[in-house]
Amino acid sequence: MTFEELGLKSGVLKSLKTLGFETPTPIQQEAIPHLLKEESDFVGLAQTGTGKTAAFGLPLVSKVEEGRKRPQGLVICPTRELCLQISKDIQNYSKNVDVTTVAVYGGTDIVRQIKEIKRGAQIIVATPGRLVDLTKRKAIVLSEIDWVVLDEADEMLNMGFKEDIDHILDETPLERNVWLFSATMPKEVAQIAKNYMEEPLEVSIGHKNQTNENIEHIYFTVSDRDRYSAVKRLIDFNPNIYGLIFCRTRRETAAVAEKLGKEGYSAEPLHGDLSQAQRDQVMRRFRNKDIQILVATDVAARGIDVDDITHVINYNLPDEIENYTHRSGRTARAGKHGESMVLVTPKESYKIKAIEKKIRTEFTKGTIPNAKEICEIQLMKLVDKVITTPVKENDIAEFLPAVMSEFDEFSKEDIIKKFVSAEFNRFIEYYDRATDLNKKDGNSRDRGDRDDRGGRRERGNRNDENKTRFFVNLGKRDGLNPGGLLRVVCDSTGLRSNSIGRIDIMASFSFFEADNENVDRILSEVNGSDYEGHEVSIEVTKSKGGGNKRSGGGGGGSRHRGGGGGNHRGGSPRAGGGGGGKFKGKRERRAPRRRD
Ligand code: AMP
Repeated sequence: MTFEELGLKSGVLKSLKTLGFETPTPIQQEAIPHLLKEESDFVGLAQTGTGKTAAFGLPLVSKVEEGRKRPQGLVICPTRELCLQISKDIQNYSKNVDVTTVAVYGGTDIVRQIKEIKRGAQIIVATPGRLVDLTKRKAIVLSEIDWVVLDEADEMLNMGFKEDIDHILDETPLERNVWLFSATMPKEVAQIAKNYMEEPLEVSIGHKNQTNENIEHIYFTVSDRDRYSAVKRLIDFNPNIYGLIFCRTRRETAAVAEKLGKEGYSAEPLHGDLSQAQRDQVMRRFRNKDIQILVATDVAARGIDVDDITHVINYNLPDEIENYTHRSGRTARAGKHGESMVLVTPKESYKIKAIEKKIRTEFTKGTIPNAKEICEIQLMKLVDKVITTPVKENDIAEFLPAVMSEFDEFSKEDIIKKFVSAEFNRFIEYYDRATDLNKKDGNSRDRGDRDDRGGRRERGNRNDENKTRFFVNLGKRDGLNPGGLLRVVCDSTGLRSNSIGRIDIMASFSFFEADNENVDRILSEVNGSDYEGHEVSIEVTKSKGGGNKRSGGGGGGSRHRGGGGGNHRGGSPRAGGGGGGKFKGKRERRAPRRRD
């Protein structure tokens, strides 16, 4: 069923396109056609996350008289937060029609709210107490109301608003319609239905997200600057991931997607700075599994309704806890299993408790996999790929004799080793000196602070603000050693060796640190110089310190060994391999959780 078939106003349908709502949720399918009818009361047993706001908001916007700028529809809800959320949602549905919605709630200036209502509004979203106050001040005339929506009715009654609700319903005309939404149906709620409604349509929708037992919630405690490295490890550890990474801002979303893309991962951003056409295209490619990972903001990801998503990764926790449910609910759809992973810093780890309370489900504390575990998984993926690759006998027949003769002198064991190494060495090199990214939780503020300080002290020497870290395209394999690197840098720049700091020589690339004041000189003089027949190429890494931060090598991604076997330099283990093919990720088997 489509939204077009439900009978909504064309302006409302247009807004839904912008919001990315494509198919109505079950509660919307049931409620909207009924609520659009002339006389219709309604009882919906539905929770947050089922799309209930749109279930009543869309028909309300479609029904109010645009020309009559007086309150016609009332939405009553228990809290200020919900009030703001609902009014924002309704304003979004009304972008292409002349309907104004005003939110009124306690604890803020009532005079300002009265002025807003006087300016003309067809829909008022209110908390019960403030609504009663406003009617006493004649800012809202209840006898002119046509529709009353009671949202989270059980919650309102729990909070002691029964009297206010009775008062409001008593003062509205008999012909008005009441649309009641509640997660549960205790006696008191049933009583309201009995007293104030006429033959309401009753619909009960099982909650979609809140206690979806197929979602495994896992959190990982890492330091803020290791978020990106941690995400990469999680992806590398789950090679068949078909996932969604949530970031808090558009900028962060764009930056994470860009970095992943540059490092050879099949990742694209989805955020509000993209045009509608661009967003549609990204979504099409994601649905089609041409993209393995979508990096999105909460707002942009709202409309995403893709089955098969195996993992949701929370790069940061959402500002509003409620959004966590929406995020995690993107996985484990249609009865499938999914994992929702959260990265928190030690100081943020207390927030996990709040989410657990909200979703009534416990999190598992996960461990960011170490180098060995990732390499093992990747190796098995490679072996799997080789074994399952179909052999196109006819196509390769003419080349086989020559290829076979090349391998004449090797044993079967040697050949296997060589094939595996040809592809896999990148991973081994990349994770060569990967450090443990896991941090302890900060159970109290104090402890969090201590952990953090301890961590910083440990790395203090390496994180010198006055030093810049450089990536070098040569490593041990090229015969480079610390002395050799010092010689190249000092000879070409005339600097003394004591102005060069830490040196890390890796298998096929290296890093060194130098005083900030010499950056330009080093870049211009060392680049292009010669080291035992190899051209030296250097660049400033983006992140300082941390020998594991190969991603700092960034631009090294496209470097290849001169005349050699196309060996990848720096960047990530992904770049230069694997990423080319179309991703058709089936969840064949779950990557084993870390074995201790
Ligand atoms: P609610 O239950 O109203 O809190 O809605 C839960 C979330 O689902 C919100 O983020 C809505 O924007 C989103 N949503 C509601 N209806 C749809 C729909 N038909 N398609 C996609 N997303 C929707």
